[in-house]
Amino acid sequence: MSQVELPAPVKAAVLCDALPYIRRFAGCTVVVKYGGNALVGSDGSPVRLLPVTASRDGEEAGDREAEALERFAEDVVLLRSIGILPVVVHGGGPQIGSLMARLGKVPEFRDGLRVTDAETLEIARMVLVGKVNRDIVGMINVHGPLAVGLSGEDAGLITATARDPGLGYVGDVVAVDPSIVHRLLAEGLVPVIATIGSDRTGQAYNINADTVAGAIAESLGAEKLVFLTDVTGILSNSADPTTLLHRLCAEELDAMVASGAVAKGMVPKAAACTHAVRHGVASAHVLDGRVTHAILLELLTSEGVGTMVVAQ
Ligand code: ADP
Ligand code: MG
Repeated sequence: MSQVELPAPVKAAVLCDALPYIRRFAGCTVVVKYGGNALVGSDGSPVRLLPVTASRDGEEAGDREAEALERFAEDVVLLRSIGILPVVVHGGGPQIGSLMARLGKVPEFRDGLRVTDAETLEIARMVLVGKVNRDIVGMINVHGPLAVGLSGEDAGLITATARDPGLGYVGDVVAVDPSIVHRLLAEGLVPVIATIGSDRTGQAYNINADTVAGAIAESLGAEKLVFLTDVTGILSNSADPTTLLHRLCAEELDAMVASGAVAKGMVPKAAACTHAVRHGVASAHVLDGRVTHAILLELLTSEGVGTMVVAQ
């Protein structure tokens, strides 16, 4: 489905222009982290990705969110159809926060960090595995029956440990066993991974999705690690959207984190980008998930949207 109906010869030309990129990336693995915030605007309202047509269930915001997810699902199916191997890793922070609020659970913070007690973990796991994962899998499968949902707990995919016992069940990645992902990719399927990990006793932990996406990209030796977020890319001044940096090497990005120019939710993305490109991933990208077909623009055109991070 496209926003503007193009004349057929233009469509044919667009396809031909994509050919060198299709040939270059066919058979390559691309790990895409789809964040909760790629769908939800900074004011908490879902962002507009396409004009909202007739409101199907009266919920205009819900419609817009569904539209955004649908465009993303189309991109994933298109990539798989041209021989690229997408692996989707997703977060869901805003969705967890919203269910907690609906259940009347008051978040607890220690030194500014959210404490994940057993009940919070249960909510996070229910939302990530039972809701967000299902929504993404369901939408991809509308466009092509390829997506299989996984939790990091499945088949030993993500072994986790407590980051800090004082924070409860917030986990760090100890090890990734990508066997199950390789098996699904070999079958032509698209793994969609919720970022819950477990330790050797079976205890589950909620892990930052940016960190998981980076660790999975490394373990797969992915060609690209792509973060879809709610800004145009990495900005030299986070308050000024006109300061987008198109290309950074790992050392430059480290310096931005050290100076505080990269802060908040961009810190784990930056850390995942620099670690990944130093450990075999050819490039990492931070793209604006609010832009329709951002991944296609990045992978299949010479445009290069957002920020590209390379080893040097
Ligand atoms: P996601 O749901 O995609 O993980 P986050 O809110 O966790 O989104 O991270 C993205 C946010 O990081 C941006 O919305 C922005 O507020 C913040 N940020 C901090 N420093 C920078 C920077 N230098 N460039 C871009 N964004 C930055
Ligand atoms: Mg985040």
